[in-house]
Amino acid sequence: MSQIYASEIMAKDDAGYLPVFSRYSIVLDHGEGAYVYDVNGRRYLDALGGIAVNVLGHNDPALVDAVAAQAGHLIHVSNLYYTAAQAEAADQLSRLTNGGKVFFGNSGAEANEGAIKAARKYGHTISADKVQIVTARGSFHGRTLAALTATGQEKFHKGFEPLPQGFDYVDFNDIHALERVVGESTAAVMLEPIQGEGGVRMPAEGYLRRVRELCDAYDALLVFDEIQTGIGRTGTFYAYEQYGVTPDIVTLAKGLAGGVPIGAFVVTEKVAQVFHPGDHGSTFGGNPLACAAANVVLDTVTRESFLAHVREVGGYFKQELAALKEKYPKYVSDVRGAGLMLGMEMHSAAAAAEIVRATLAHGVIVNCTAGSVLRFVPPLIFTNENVDEVIRVLDACILDICDTGGL
Ligand SMILES: *Cc1c(COP(=O)(O)O)cnc(C)c1O
Repeated sequence: MSQIYASEIMAKDDAGYLPVFSRYSIVLDHGEGAYVYDVNGRRYLDALGGIAVNVLGHNDPALVDAVAAQAGHLIHVSNLYYTAAQAEAADQLSRLTNGGKVFFGNSGAEANEGAIKAARKYGHTISADKVQIVTARGSFHGRTLAALTATGQEKFHKGFEPLPQGFDYVDFNDIHALERVVGESTAAVMLEPIQGEGGVRMPAEGYLRRVRELCDAYDALLVFDEIQTGIGRTGTFYAYEQYGVTPDIVTLAKGLAGGVPIGAFVVTEKVAQVFHPGDHGSTFGGNPLACAAANVVLDTVTRESFLAHVREVGGYFKQELAALKEKYPKYVSDVRGAGLMLGMEMHSAAAAAEIVRATLAHGVIVNCTAGSVLRFVPPLIFTNENVDEVIRVLDACILDICDTGGL
């Protein structure tokens, strides 16, 4: 494959595809484990994992076999009929979520739409006014209209008004702000336990527990958006397990089927009871192809040895990032995160953007979010050796761009 071939693909895509992504100039072709390869055969270490999606890495044999086998049986049937793949996925996910009831959609935004609908429907059984959804500033919940409105960042709202009604925003980690807003009219408080797109923001000590108590006091539902933090990402299947807090509704997507599009929301029995045939639905949601993939992921990531691996490699990664902070106190302002969801905040957004470009040129894919936060959400099969490669390249790029380059 020649360079000319890559530029032809990019030109074709630019001509045909809606320009909503500012893309980097590489054309990816295939992958193996923690690495992806472009059409010229150049190898890149993937510390982004398709944004927390490719939890088993690329070309995982069990995942590929399951998808291929299922495709040869049935790719899709209507939800008017049962399939073994969906039954298995729903059963597994229900067991992992305190016996809750599962609904499958196709994306994170769709999972959150479902959660918002569930909260509203539950609220309406108590009072016609119990409809408000409270979310956090800096949150990210997706791009469909209600999920977009739930997203507490104005830059995502601009130009799409009028937005759906009934959303209130509070600062993340400010329990007093939440106390002022939550009341009888609150249907739900919806939070990411750790904010992802918002810059890998950790919950303050005791915050999520206080949120749970506040929800209980007003019979408001607690919704955790674990689309990014779930599926073992933080070292436990759900991040909320580490905070001793259980939600009424949890949403999943990203890593759930290892890269095959899927989303899910899981509700407790009391919420499930407000749903009846016809109240919600999806044509593609829970199709056997996506569910067969999800079953492989769930079988794998729930093994204690797998989660222990995430904690160990994540701990090592965080320690090595902290060492970079020690080495470059002028340029690295913070390191935070849990498991393999890590953020390194740089002193400037310009430097962070330049570092992302430079690491890519050195064959390492990292990402920058919330302006100045380098984000690492690699495949969960990442090893300490993979971490060493990321750190070595980051070190060289920080030296080059910040120290020598003056950015
Ligand atoms: C990615 C993400 C979403 C949106 O998921 P899509 O599949 O892109 O719709 C929602 N919430 C969180 C926390 C996310 O990280």
